[in-house]
Amino acid sequence: MSGISINSMSAFRLITRFGLGHIKGLKAQGQLEKPDPKWGVCQGSNSAYESLSFVNAFHHFGRGSDDHENGDDHLEEELTRFVIAVFFVKCLRLTDFFKEDNEEDNHTAAEKKESECQEDGLERNFTEDEILVGSLLAHFIWAIPANAHDVGELSVVAPGTVRGSQMTSLGGALFNGLSLFNHSCEPTFMRANVGNLVVCVAAKRIPKGCEVAENYGLNYGKDSTVKRHSVLAGHYGFKCACCACQGES
Ligand SMILES: [Zn+2]
Repeated sequence: MSGISINSMSAFRLITRFGLGHIKGLKAQGQLEKPDPKWGVCQGSNSAYESLSFVNAFHHFGRGSDDHENGDDHLEEELTRFVIAVFFVKCLRLTDFFKEDNEEDNHTAAEKKESECQEDGLERNFTEDEILVGSLLAHFIWAIPANAHDVGELSVVAPGTVRGSQMTSLGGALFNGLSLFNHSCEPTFMRANVGNLVVCVAAKRIPKGCEVAENYGLNYGKDSTVKRHSVLAGHYGFKCACCACQGES
């Protein structure tokens, strides 16, 4: 076993899904400079939030990452994510990922020398493209755990009833739009995976003006307030102040 988590693999998939050309284009446009914590929230109520977007993922999945960058408690995690990012970059070196159509013409003398060193079995320095991809990998590896969603399958024992059914985890996925929902210990909707999509269904009547919130896996009906607050603060970095928590305090 590599020890690399599914979240790290999701970061790797995010990079390879969009490709180097797309990422470099966004970088050249200045769209990958610093994650904006309010990204997506203030884009106007009339425009749909695009889920399949690298820029949206970059800004949205950066939320909360700054909260953990200081302090000795996270040094091991910090080191680990950079080691994994370097590992992934070196894996990508073995593929055509960093190769561009006109690569031959664009090689600088320094890059040619590095290439010769590599052929000699020597370790070469990282190129600008590799550093860009590596830094994005490190960024996503840190931020994705608090934003990814489980993908599950409900196994029923008999048609027409969910009695006795069991949920089996199939993996994880990133949904830009879905990740915008805040948590409530008393969620207003439930979600189900249908192919590559997620279908959200209201779990109760939602009065006009009430926030539509989902549940991050901790429900006031089965988990104590102490447990909910401990897990939510540790994993997501916030103290829950939902209606259920306020009613119990
Ligand atoms: Zn709560």
